[in-house]
Order: sequence, then structure tokens, then C-alpha cells
Amino acid sequence: MAEEKACKKCGMIISHGNTCPVCGSKELSAKWSSYIIVINAEKSQIAQKLGININSTFAVDVK
Ligand SMILES: [Zn+2]
Repeated sequence: MAEEKACKKCGMIISHGNTCPVCGSKELSAKWSSYIIVINAEKSQIAQKLGININSTFAVDVK
């Protein structure tokens, strides 16, 4: 199983590669305290709060 990393900027969880596909950041971390799964970004209030506009898994509180 590939090591998952989270983008420090937007929280996107990336299962492979070293660049965030959402914001292009290369600052990734393997440590985060929790994550949210966005399945309907356009209607999710949490997603809007976090500035997320794609359906994916996002880490919260990336260390
Ligand atoms: Zn990012």
C-alpha cells in the first residue's frame, strides 16, 4: 500500500506522486490528525469553508 501524503496548503490527500494536483504545492506531509471525504463539494458547507471545489479526500490539521 502506497504511503499517503497530505498537501500542507489545501489538505488534499495524495496517494502517489509528490505534487498536489489541486494547488500544485510540493509541500506534503505524512502526518495529519483527521480527514474529511468530500463527495458533493458544490453543496458541502465544510468544503466551501475550506475552499474545496473537487470531490476527494482532504486532510484536516496537517502537521
Ligand atoms: Zn494542495
